[in-house]
Amino acid sequence: MNDIRSISKEALNNFLTNIGVERFRTKQVWNWLWKNFVSSFDEMVNIPVLVRDKLKENFRFPTYEVIKVSESKDGTTKMLIQFFDGSQIESVLIPTEKRLTACISTQDGCPVGCTFCATALMGFKRNLNAGEIYAQVVILNKLALEKFGKQLTNIVIMGMGEPLLNYEQVMMFCNILSSEDGMLFSSGRITLSSIGLPKMIKKLTEDNSKFNLAISLHATSDEKRSKIIPASKAYSIEELIKSLDNYCKTTGKQITFEYILLKDFNDSPEDARNFVKISRKIPSKVNIINYNTFDNTFFEKSDDKTTADFINILEQNRINVRLRISRGSAINAACGQLAGRKKDVK
Ligand code: SF4
Repeated sequence: MNDIRSISKEALNNFLTNIGVERFRTKQVWNWLWKNFVSSFDEMVNIPVLVRDKLKENFRFPTYEVIKVSESKDGTTKMLIQFFDGSQIESVLIPTEKRLTACISTQDGCPVGCTFCATALMGFKRNLNAGEIYAQVVILNKLALEKFGKQLTNIVIMGMGEPLLNYEQVMMFCNILSSEDGMLFSSGRITLSSIGLPKMIKKLTEDNSKFNLAISLHATSDEKRSKIIPASKAYSIEELIKSLDNYCKTTGKQITFEYILLKDFNDSPEDARNFVKISRKIPSKVNIINYNTFDNTFFEKSDDKTTADFINILEQNRINVRLRISRGSAINAACGQLAGRKKDVK
């Protein structure tokens, strides 16, 4: 049985009209689903009981439960959320002076297998649907209001999973979130983060995506990149840049390169100079990220001097670069550390 929050508005409309329900009911049901984010068909009080019964017979209503909350001293809060089938994912609220950012997940586990990432160690269970992704925003927005009296300001799709491998449901989520049907969240404040799959970047280009795109580069040669991002063996950095160039020209947007500094692996002056050459090819800015270690990783964080030298080389070459401060590492909520499982719950 399909989850009612995984189907498009058009599919919902087709279902309702096929069973003889007036068209205006589609908007009403859609509003209950997305604007009001109700927890059951029975809460759709202006929908006739007979129609609600038909919906119940044909669709599953999504359930979710927050089963663990961890808070770090810097205010970063991580939630472990469980869905109807026992799938568990993590989402993080990151408060800074100016922003309240939700970092959300799009898959239970991840099939990409990056060797520096805790999520990869979980393997891959399944894609999340648009409703399960949206539920994370609803939960974190409620928390933001409770703790800070303000709504979320930014959404980064940088949690567990590779969003472009769950393209349809991720785009449905982004489109609803930024529309009047959802929270009317500014598309310029929603960032999709990907390892950069040229085929899917082509799709984003064709769809004229209005959302920000961040590309996890993490290495400047194909050889090194394929060692830490196994899925990148299938295409070269050159192919990736070509697809990004086309994306930037068509959408008029710039991209952000994300680069985690790994000690003695990708942090040499030569790596920095190669990075300059790559980032000059397309309109871009660069986020350098300190590595956040976790159990069973064999990588280490680059030391402060190496990090500063690396950034200096980029700055001297007029690359727009900043060191992204990782938050929540004490509760394993920082970049690359998400790996929620029920067994972790105490
Ligand atoms: S870094 Fe991202 S793409 Fe790579 S394994 Fe982790 S979640 Fe997947």
